Amino acid sequence: MAKPKAAILGLGIMGSGMAARLLAGNFPLAVFNRTREKSAALAAQGAFAAGTPKEAAARSQIIISMVANDEASREVWLGPDGALAGAAPDSLLIECSTLSGKWIHELWAEVSARGCRFLDAPVTGTKPHAASGELVFLVGGSRETVTAAEPVFSVLGRQTLHLGPVGSGTLMKLVNNFVCGVQAASIAEALRMIDAAGLDRSKAFSVLTGGAPGSGIVKRVAERVLANDYTPSFALRWMAKDLSYAVGEAAEKKIPLETAQAALAIFKQAVAEGHGSEDFSAVSKR
Ligand code: NAP
Repeated sequence: MAKPKAAILGLGIMGSGMAARLLAGNFPLAVFNRTREKSAALAAQGAFAAGTPKEAAARSQIIISMVANDEASREVWLGPDGALAGAAPDSLLIECSTLSGKWIHELWAEVSARGCRFLDAPVTGTKPHAASGELVFLVGGSRETVTAAEPVFSVLGRQTLHLGPVGSGTLMKLVNNFVCGVQAASIAEALRMIDAAGLDRSKAFSVLTGGAPGSGIVKRVAERVLANDYTPSFALRWMAKDLSYAVGEAAEKKIPLETAQAALAIFKQAVAEGHGSEDFSAVSKR
């Protein structure tokens, strides 16, 4: 059966891997990126490099956005020459970026008014998982729409978790990342204690990673710190963004989310000290 025509808006660390994966799966693919040069490598592999999100959307039945934050998502969907203006009614729009629930609901209303179908489908997994099709999709939307999206989810991910109506995927993603951010911030503080006491970092990390605190996130931060390698897989400023969206989301439900607030302050300080574009594990450098 012919593959649906797809578009990826946003060719950053995650979007570029996802686009390459769709091309390898023989999907006719249009791509758009704000910084045009980033489309060149995918165009060389057969993607159509659109000049605007509208142009990419007009050629596509399934349109996926994978951009930085609420502002970027608003720009690619609703901005001048935004994707919504080019999307045919009944096309399927999937927002995979990690965004606020407030914005996702606003976007859903705009998409519905145009007669298109919509899912929020943020992901877990990072750069290598995007490139190898091993993401986990946390999805909000109707069951029929999730089924319609399965041809792309199955190529891009190893699991699709349908969590409820639109907004459910986003909420789960913010919970997931606030728990990750809190752990990363706590390891940053632990490292200060370790260094101040003159303990050997390598031995100290082997205690932490080999014992009860040794979660995936703690192991990842320890690995980066010991290798002194902060090349971004997931940029520190986006972890700060996720913590801030999680705090905002919880505040609307009258939940103070105090650990996330403390972690957010630590991440904000790391951004202020110039580490925003490094991997989030660079929070340990502040
Ligand atoms: P990234 O490498 O920083 O890429 C960000 C993308 O957003 C780029 O394509 C960028 O375009 C675009 N963008 C930023 N501001 C824009 C604007 N105002 N208008 C239009 N486009 C704009 O980020 P990423 O790591 O791929 O992350 C993308 C999303 O996935 C984020 O929401 C992030 O939280 C989430 N996420 C990331 C990971 C990870 O491990 N990296 C894992 C799960 C979820 P330019 O190239 O022009 O700057």
